[in-house]
Order: sequence, then structure tokens, then C-alpha cells
Amino acid sequence: MSHPPFLPFTRPHVDAATIAAVSEVLASGWIASGPKVAAFESCLSDLFGGRPVRAFSSGTATLEVALRLAGIGPGDEVITTSITWAATANVIVAGGARPVFVDVDPRTRNLDLAAAAAAITPRTRALLPVYLAGLPLDMDRLYALAKAHGLRVIEDAAQALDARWNGKRIGSFGDLVSFSFQANKNITCAEGGCLVVNSAAEAEHAERLRLQGVVRTGPDGMDMVEPGGKFNLSDINAAIGLGQLPHLQAVTRRRAELACAYFDIAGRSDAESLGIELPPPSSTTGALGNWHMFQVVLPADRIAGGRAAVMNAMRADGIGTGVHYPAVHRYTYYRSLGWRDGALPHAERIGRGILTLPLFPAMRDGDVERVWASLTAACKGLL
Ligand SMILES: *Cc1c(COP(=O)(O)O)cnc(C)c1O
Repeated sequence: MSHPPFLPFTRPHVDAATIAAVSEVLASGWIASGPKVAAFESCLSDLFGGRPVRAFSSGTATLEVALRLAGIGPGDEVITTSITWAATANVIVAGGARPVFVDVDPRTRNLDLAAAAAAITPRTRALLPVYLAGLPLDMDRLYALAKAHGLRVIEDAAQALDARWNGKRIGSFGDLVSFSFQANKNITCAEGGCLVVNSAAEAEHAERLRLQGVVRTGPDGMDMVEPGGKFNLSDINAAIGLGQLPHLQAVTRRRAELACAYFDIAGRSDAESLGIELPPPSSTTGALGNWHMFQVVLPADRIAGGRAAVMNAMRADGIGTGVHYPAVHRYTYYRSLGWRDGALPHAERIGRGILTLPLFPAMRDGDVERVWASLTAACKGLL
């Protein structure tokens, strides 16, 4: 019997034209930040309704610069979610501020805005929501809350390229909106990120912070009034992004199809009686996700061997899965800042049970059935 090939939880697709474009950059004599970065920023700006956009070396760099632009530093508090990649909280610490984790909505797995409202203090300067799996928050409520308390909003939209709120693309409105083009994201530069800002002045400030804070003062002069970092994107990476962007619509459509196939098969299976929680379905009004990931939450506490046992069983079936993410406030470092177990019950339960199933555009419809059969068999065998 021949085994089907291993199915990873995600796989980037880089087409031949993009590979040729990268080769051209490499042969051109200019591989640092240059015309390809400018062209990439211009395409992104078009995507976000003409708002100013600057590209960076990563989504983490982008968030760090966003916090600097918002003037956040020592003594300040930033409210964020615990179900996220470590970067979201780490950039707050890097900026000298204090991350204030609040619990998530158990249905959307995103920052609970009522919990955020309750956590606001006189030191709170910003809200830093994450759109997990590319599902936006209720953006009207988010911005109403920020406005009522005079807070900046830094959107960690790392996973949310092409997601929408009431038909408007995330990034085309709002305050500071950060995206990542890391290898696993829906559109990639291998590594990279971009920040959507509010004005030409803010874009210029972001540009300065991106490269040491140095400005040119004539043909042979330089000055620096504020130290920046080393956060610029190379033309090699920008060429990858430029090759990816034309596929955005097809990528989003295919991901939605695969998510539909998951809902369809889950609805015909005994997922519910097994205690497997599904993500909230796509809607055409309100928050419309981009299906960056399809994630279930397992009843990990009732499974012999927990989530790891399910992952091992699926791996033995040739299926890769991922964990995005354990609750960040339970990492040793954040515990050392005083965060305790039991502080955020929904985040802790989801952090123990969340599992990312394979979903990428080149997957075949039949792969979804194979994944679901393996998942449910593993749970049945271990519950
Ligand atoms: C990917 C990601 C980041 C960081 O992006 P990098 O480009 O890897 O630095 C931050 N937050 C979230 C939610 C992410 O998924």
C-alpha cells in the first residue's frame, strides 16, 4: 500500500515568475532596500485605499516601530491578548512598557473588548488587538472604546491580510495597522512586514526609525535626533512580496473554500460529541476572516496524553499540525512579571487545546477529509 505524501499544516507557494524576479534582483547589482521596496510599498498602499505604507524586515519590527510612533514607553500600559505569538507581547516589553493581558472571547478566541474596557487604567496608552487566524474584532466597538479613553490602537494584523470588516479591508481604515509577510503568512516575503500609518509625517517618522534614525542633511551630511533600529526590508524580499500580491484574491478565495470543506465535514461527523470546538464560521457582514488558519480546540484535559498525543497520532497518519498558540502570560518570563495561572481562564483553556489543521491553497479538497478522519479517530482513541 502506498502512503499519501506528508501533508504539512502550511506550505508557501512561490511561482516561477517570482523566482525569476528574485534572480533579476540578485543579478542587478542592487540587493539592499531600493526600487523593489518602493514598488512593494506602493502596491500595498493601493490595497489599503491609498493610506501611507512602509515596509519592514519583519512583523515584529513593524510592531516595535508602531509603538515608537505612538510614543509608548516606560510607565505606560498596553492592553493585549494572551492567545498570540510571543512577538505581540515582547514588543511592548522591548519598548519599556507593560503588557496587560486580558482574556479572550471563547468563541472568536480574540481579545474580549469588555475585558479590555475593564482593564483600562490612567496609565493605559494603547490597545493592541490580534486578529487570530485572520479574523478581525468588532472594529466599531474597538475604535469606540479607544476613542472614549483617548487610546491609540496598534492592530497586530500580522495574520489578517485581506480580512474585512463590513466589507472594508483591514488596513484601509483605523490607526496603526501592522502586517507580517513571514514565511507562513498568506502572502510572504520569506521575512518582512508592513505598517499602515495615518499621515505623510508619520510615514517619514517610521522611515527614520526603520534605519537607525539617521537623516540626510545634504549631499554629504547626516544627522540623527532619535536613535532608530535596523528594520529595513531588502529588495530581494520585496521582489518575493511583489510576486505574491497578484495572487491575493485567489489565495483568499481558495482558503475560504477549504474552510467551508472543513465545516462541511465537521458537521457530518461526531465532532460535537467528541468535544472538538470549531472556529466561528465566516460571515459576509461584520468580521470576515481570511482563513489564515483553521483551528479547532480539543478537550485537552480529557484526552489521554493531551493535545500532544493527538498531534503524534496525526503525524503517524502523515498529517502535520501546529499550535498557535499557548497562552503567552504562562511563559516563564511573563510569570516572572506576576502573571498567574487562573488569571485568564478562557485563554488558558484555549492555549492548552488549540490545534492548527492543514490549510494552504495548494491543498486538495480530498486532503480535508483525510485530516478530519485522522483527527476524529485520534480523539476517539484517546478520550
Ligand atoms: C507572524 C506574527 C507576528 C510577527 O511577525 P514576524 O514577521 O514573524 O516578525 C506577530 N504577531 C502575530 C499574531 C503573528 O502571527
